[in-house]
Amino acid sequence: MNVNKKRFFVLLLINILIVVHIILWYKLGYQKIGTFSLNGIVSLFGMGLLNSAAVFFILVVLTAVLFGRLFCGWGCHFAFFQEFALKILHKIGINPQIIHSKASTIQYVFLLKTLTAIFEYWLIYGHPRFHVGFSDTQVMTVDLPRNPAIIASFFICDAFLLIYLLGSRAFCRYVCPWAPMLAFFDNFSFWRIRKVNDCKGCMCCTRSCTMGIPVHEEIARHNAVVNTNCIRCLACKDACPNGTLNYRWGPNVVSLTRRIEWLIPRQGKYSWYCDFLLIFCGLVAAYYTQRLLGSFQTFLGAAWGLCLGIVIVKYLECKHVSVSETVQQKRRFLSVGLVTLSTLVWCWGTSTPPDIRLLLRGNRALDSMEYDKAIAIYNRAIHEFPSSHEVRAALALTYKLKGDYPRSITEYTILIAGNPGNASLHNNLGTVYYRNGNYDLAIEEYKRAIQLDEHLTAAYGNLGLVFLKKGNVKEAIPFLRKVFQNEEDMLKYIKVIYGSHQEQTG
Ligand code: SF4
Ligand code: SF4
Ligand code: SF4
Repeated sequence: MNVNKKRFFVLLLINILIVVHIILWYKLGYQKIGTFSLNGIVSLFGMGLLNSAAVFFILVVLTAVLFGRLFCGWGCHFAFFQEFALKILHKIGINPQIIHSKASTIQYVFLLKTLTAIFEYWLIYGHPRFHVGFSDTQVMTVDLPRNPAIIASFFICDAFLLIYLLGSRAFCRYVCPWAPMLAFFDNFSFWRIRKVNDCKGCMCCTRSCTMGIPVHEEIARHNAVVNTNCIRCLACKDACPNGTLNYRWGPNVVSLTRRIEWLIPRQGKYSWYCDFLLIFCGLVAAYYTQRLLGSFQTFLGAAWGLCLGIVIVKYLECKHVSVSETVQQKRRFLSVGLVTLSTLVWCWGTSTPPDIRLLLRGNRALDSMEYDKAIAIYNRAIHEFPSSHEVRAALALTYKLKGDYPRSITEYTILIAGNPGNASLHNNLGTVYYRNGNYDLAIEEYKRAIQLDEHLTAAYGNLGLVFLKKGNVKEAIPFLRKVFQNEEDMLKYIKVIYGSHQEQTG
């Protein structure tokens, strides 16, 4: 069996395991281990949550550092669909061409956008607090598609269509946000495709490469494949008729240091505009670092600024072009600018509004029953965003849970004044009156809620409960009938509530 077939079966097995996991999780309720996803980076660094996805992320990064992008070749569930699509296309006589294009830059935008989610979590919840929760699937399940049509079009477009138009593994080469991240870690990898025998230059390796890497050229120049798109699929090794290639450990080709050796200074003096750029970067970085981190960090900021300035100067020097020429001629410069700009625009357009950030932060305090903290956060949010109904509703609820009924009533009354037709608000206010012992006012609010929304079952149940508490079983029954399907269950309920009322009243 050739290596591509073996890999196909391994990838199929991964997908079968995913299906087993879904059945265990959703059908059988076994929820001890959550989703495996590289999104674990957001859980880990954004929230401090070590869940299954975060462990998975750490393991994948470790394997990438040691063995290269082995995960992409042998472990990614979506790799299977791409290989499957390619097989089908081959079967019907279509051999898609591998197209390389700068459009792959969008992967960097996707990656940066994903990573900014970490920062977003910091803004909402403050510094991450490390905690373990393997079954906690936060971050992972938020946007997963449920609609079969969307799932089907995802496979058709992202697998079949992209491969048909752009060639093998097009999703990996153009869309997947994790590809640039794993490519970065691949730079450190010791295990690579290496030259172990003489090369005859037949190019079978290049023709077989799943990712469209010119393998023969890489071997000729570096005695190893250093291209970070290499997913260690081993197809080239299998295809070489001469036994020239092997997947082996060796002293690292250090593709990262090769990439940054242009940074090493070669001259003792900079031109005047470079000096100006360095001063500018040093001062600006020092100023902002001081504002953000305190006065002592000014010098740290100056060092950061100077380093950044030197990288820019070196980049320009290395290309032997002036700044204006760079802007005019160098597409790479423009594409970096484009990536940054698109990411910024995207982040700006999709970032969580500040009032919702405070709301989420308050909700977190509420979830952990830190009522005073939640109230302080909601009050701050209301002070800054007085028109936010969601925040005021959360504040009213928190006062209710804390047992501060007068304040809860005040907040619900303000909410109702702004939105008198909202049945749920009347129902909630009724509940606060009920807990405060104002049964008549509670009945009034529940009735109002039912007038506004006759399908609000909770209000019927609440009305029935208040009447029972008042010892009025006859009035309670019509409302309770709207809640209980079964007469027997209703009678049991009445017995419990009415019995406790009788005990209290003697
Ligand atoms: S690049 Fe992305 S989609 Fe492709 S195999 Fe790697 S993780 Fe999976
Ligand atoms: S297939 Fe083998 S012999 Fe042919 S070019 Fe590649 S490494 Fe050299
Ligand atoms: S260079 Fe070889 S191992 Fe790497 S992706 Fe291409 S065929 Fe696979």
